[in-house]
Amino acid sequence: MKRPNIYLFPQWDDNYGYLIKDPHGTKGVLVDPCDFEMCLKILELNDCEASHILLTHHHDDHVAAVEEIKKEFNSIIVGYGQDSQIPTPDKILNQDENFKILGQEYRLLHTPGHTLQHVNYFMPKHNILFSGDTLFNAGCGRMFEGTPQMFWESLSKIKSLPKNTTIYCGHEYTLANIKFALSIDPNNEHLLKLSKWASRQDKEHRPTLPTILEEQLLSNPFLRCDSEHFFEYYKSQDPIEVFAKMRSAKDNF
Ligand SMILES: [Zn+2]
Repeated sequence: MKRPNIYLFPQWDDNYGYLIKDPHGTKGVLVDPCDFEMCLKILELNDCEASHILLTHHHDDHVAAVEEIKKEFNSIIVGYGQDSQIPTPDKILNQDENFKILGQEYRLLHTPGHTLQHVNYFMPKHNILFSGDTLFNAGCGRMFEGTPQMFWESLSKIKSLPKNTTIYCGHEYTLANIKFALSIDPNNEHLLKLSKWASRQDKEHRPTLPTILEEQLLSNPFLRCDSEHFFEYYKSQDPIEVFAKMRSAKDNF
């Protein structure tokens, strides 16, 4: 299968929704729809229907438009079977399950931490990841339900994906994330470069996503809890302990 087109669109305050569509297709997949009007608009602009909806987790700002979209297009809701709080999936997935939608291959990755049953969707043929509220550009989601160990293991799963993986995240939090990251890693040249670029994007009202895993491995502090720099900074050789300290520092930043 050819690489699909992926359209990023804003929803509510700072959420992003995504439409995955083959270049000449008339059907598409919506990821985490919360803003019905914006979803309709992006579908209309691309002459397609939402045949499927992929869900990463149960928070309102990721599922609020699901029922209306399903009503409009008779869409198939796809989600993790263990998550009892998402709108009931028509297609129930298991951990690490590979599945196909509209000819494209996907893999469900269970990535607990932000919520206990949070999942990411990875497209192995094209190295594309939808990371929901697990990983952001230069940051990660708040730890509402999980433990530091869970969250670090989830981030480690993402770390082990191919370096050229393109990552589509659930929110535009990049500038605030960079501000915190620079406070604990001020001399990181990759982070400084990212900061310059993100500020320019912001000035031009452009999104800072998607991002590439390779860049995140060098600049995102939450993916670097096992680095010498943060072992020293947080006076611990244990990435889980480093993650716990970093996450709570960000919460209070
Ligand atoms: Zn969330």
